[in-house]
Parts: sequence; C-alpha cells; structure tokens
Amino acid sequence: MTPPLYRNDAPGQFPASWYAATATIPDRRPAVSSDLRADVAIVGAGYTGLHAALELRKHGLSVIVLDAHRAGWGASGRNGGQVGSDFNKGQLWLEARVGRDTAKSLWSLAQEAAGMVRDFCTLAAPLAQYKPGIAWGQYDTDLSDIRAEVDHLDRHYPGHGMTALDRDGIQALIRSEKYNGGTLNMQAGHIHPLNYVLALAAAAETAGAVIYEGTEVTRLDTGGRVTLHTPGGRVTADHVILAGNGYIRGLATANDARVMPINSFIGATEPLGDLAEEVLTQDIAACDSSFVVNYFRLTADKRLLFGGRANYSLTFPADMGGELHKRMVEMFPQLAGTRFSHTWGGTLGVTMTRLPYVRAITPNILSAGGYSGHGVALAGLAGRVMAEAVAGQAGRFDTLGQLPVPPFPLGHYAQETMLPLAMTWFTLRDNLGI
Ligand SMILES: Cc1cc2nc3c(=O)[nH]c(=O)nc-3n(C[C@H](O)[C@H](O)[C@H](O)COP(=O)(O)OP(=O)(O)OC[C@H]3O[C@@H](n4cnc5c(N)ncnc54)[C@H](O)[C@@H]3O)c2cc1C
Repeated sequence: MTPPLYRNDAPGQFPASWYAATATIPDRRPAVSSDLRADVAIVGAGYTGLHAALELRKHGLSVIVLDAHRAGWGASGRNGGQVGSDFNKGQLWLEARVGRDTAKSLWSLAQEAAGMVRDFCTLAAPLAQYKPGIAWGQYDTDLSDIRAEVDHLDRHYPGHGMTALDRDGIQALIRSEKYNGGTLNMQAGHIHPLNYVLALAAAAETAGAVIYEGTEVTRLDTGGRVTLHTPGGRVTADHVILAGNGYIRGLATANDARVMPINSFIGATEPLGDLAEEVLTQDIAACDSSFVVNYFRLTADKRLLFGGRANYSLTFPADMGGELHKRMVEMFPQLAGTRFSHTWGGTLGVTMTRLPYVRAITPNILSAGGYSGHGVALAGLAGRVMAEAVAGQAGRFDTLGQLPVPPFPLGHYAQETMLPLAMTWFTLRDNLGI
C-alpha cells in the first residue's frame, strides 16, 4: 500500500489550500546530499519537530531536521487552526485513569501548550493572527456531563477559562439549530496554521538548527549512535526524535501500532460578507461532539473554513468538497447558496484513547504523535518535552508518557482494513444519535 507520505499529494508541493494561497512560501531548502553528523536528528518538520529543534538549540545541542517534503507540508500547514488548551478527554476522565496529581500535571502541560502557540504568535508570528476562543457544541440534550466537568474545573483548576452553555448560550454564538448546549473556552483560540509553522521553521533556523527538505528517512540503524538512511546520504546522531505523526510509517513498530493515520478535509467558502454573522456571531472557532467532528471558523476576510471527514479510506476522494458541503449546509441551511473556493485534505494521527502517544522507542529514539485533532497546541509541547528529555530532564516527558495509549487491535497490520469498518460504525452511531 502507498504510505500516507506519498498517497495523496504531489511530492514537495503544498496542497492548494486557502492557507497556501494566502502565505508567502519560502524557497525550497536543499536535500541531504552527503553523510552528516549531529547531536540530534529529527524526522519531520511540523510543529512537533520544529518546537523540538527550538528547545534543543536552547540546550546548545546541534540539530538536523529532515523532512520528506517541505517544512510545514504535513498536517501542521493545512489544519483547522484550532488551538485547544486541553486534551481530548476531560479532567474527570483523566483523574479516574491516572489519579488527581498526574491529571493536574497533565492539565498544566496542556495549558502550557496553548500558551506556547499564543506567545510565539504574539512575539514571532503576527501573520498567524492568533485569536482567542473556541466554542464546542453538543447535539445531545442531556447537558449533565458538561455541567459536572465545568463544576469540577471551577473547584480544582483555577483560571480554566471554560464556561458551560445551555441551548440559548451556544446558539447565541453559533447560528445552528443543531446544538443543544456546549462550552466556550477562552484559553483556547485559532490561528493561520501555515503562517505559524513557516515562522517556526524560520525561528528554528535562526536558532541554529539545519533543516533539509525533500529528504525521506527510509531506515534507522539503532544503537549507541543511530544512523538515519536517506536517499542522498546517512545522518548519524546520538539521539533521534520521530516527529512524523500521521505521515510516518515503518520506522518504529510500537508507534505504528498506536498512531493510526486518518484524513480530514476542509473547505473555504467565498467571503460571506454580512452572512458571516448568521453563522458565527464572534470571531471564535467552533467544533462539536460528533465522533466524526465538524470544525469551523471565519477568516479575516469572512470566509467560513468548514472542516470534517469526507471519506473513510486513506485515499482522498476525487470530490473532496461534495460531502463536506452537504455537512456544512445541514449545519447551516443559510449557506445553501454558498460555494467553496478551496478544498483540501490532510492526514493526522489518532490513537485508541484519542490521547497523544509520547514514548521512548529505544533509550535514544523518542517519538510523539497521535494528537487526535489536538496537535496544533499539543504537538509543540510534545516536541519541547522530548527535547528536554534528550537534554537530560525527563520529568515532563515521563508525565506525558503516563497518558494511556494502548495499541490498536492487531497493531499496525490491520489499520487500513479496520479503518473503514470502525468509521462506518461511528458514523452510524452519530446519525442514530447513540
Ligand atoms: C485537515 C486537518 C485539520 C486539523 N485540524 C486541527 C485543528 O483544528 N486543531 C488541532 O489541534 N489539530 C488539528 N489537526 C491535527 C494537527 O494538524 C496535527 O496534530 C499536527 O499538525 C501534527 O504536527 P506534527 O508536527 O506532529 O506532524 P505534521 O505536521 O504532519 O508533520 C509531519 C512531517 O513529517 C514528515 N515525515 C513523515 N515521515 C517522514 C520520513 N520517513 N522522513 C522524513 N520526513 C517524514 C512529513 O513530510 C511531514 O512534513 C488537523 C489535521 C488535519 C489534517
């Protein structure tokens, strides 16, 4: 089977997204063309790899970043731009699994993750246009779980930024009849994700990291020093960080068994003008409770970026926008006459528990991925704590490593065949409201 890295995109080319149409893409960086040596080699130049590189440079370590395509080419340059400040599971869930103290440490890390994006955008990436606020809409009429979670946050997590909303509250923000309640999180926010990752790559280079593009790592020879094989030469490093999320396959079996690639798709409408206020009444992002999540937000020029799943195979459908447009109009019938000017897709990594997989594959090969739709913030954090671990401070890496992430049934062998079955079941469940 063709791996996600080459399955749906032209090599080295950014997808025809609204983001690529509104960003200044730098010239291509060279590929590896001779044997090289570094303290740390990083596979993947998205948020995970670039934040790891920035942190490693603070510790004075030499860093080479290798990307099969371009820096920011992966999910980091094409996602929904929603910057969460929590995990995919609530604190009550986490406390029941890992205990109150660890859950509190995890909460602090997730808050730090959101703060990293906010601060970097403010200081170094104004074109990423960070804006605060994510609303989360629930279809179910029973709002007791939301109230219990927010009550719990009120008691134990000061400054959490979350407000519980009833039907009137959510509909005052999102003009759709579909939602019966939800939350508004003002610690979360939204950005132009490609401008953010391009600025991160530039900052990593300024800090002294060297980025090679068009360089796939095809094999690792493990040992006290690791050798990374690429078509143009070998890179030898004392430590390796695997930062390929949904695109990386075949370099670490433990990772492949736990991080499953899935696709998500986004359509950008033409500018909506006054109609924009009939969709979202504030400049916040939004997502919802369906398993096959819908997510949307407005751009500065009042386009609606509407994202969700459009197929259940690893191959993009020929008509990416058709199913998405249907989902958008189901949510917002007022947009029936609006067309998409851009549609694109990308691959992300999900795990069984929808929590990130951050682990040591061997003592000197660390890996992180499977952020399950929360990677805009959590990927950078995972990169930072992996770099800390490489530099000898493993405490926060070990905390993230306590997130429960079992392998998928039948591990890495069965993902392609199981994915359509699993997704069909969850879609049916959404449609039936069970
Ligand atoms: C359409 C879409 C919408 C999304 N929306 C959101 C959202 O709104 N909020 C949110 O939090 N998350 C969202 N996500 C997920 C989020 O984008 C990712 O979790 C995050 O970008 C992961 O960053 P990363 O650096 O780990 O991986 P990526 O950005 O995917 O980068 C991985 C890089 O590794 C490289 N690579 C892989 N294998 C190799 C190899 N063998 N050799 C060399 N290079 C290799 C790839 O070329 C790629 O550039 C979305 C994802 C998609 C696709």
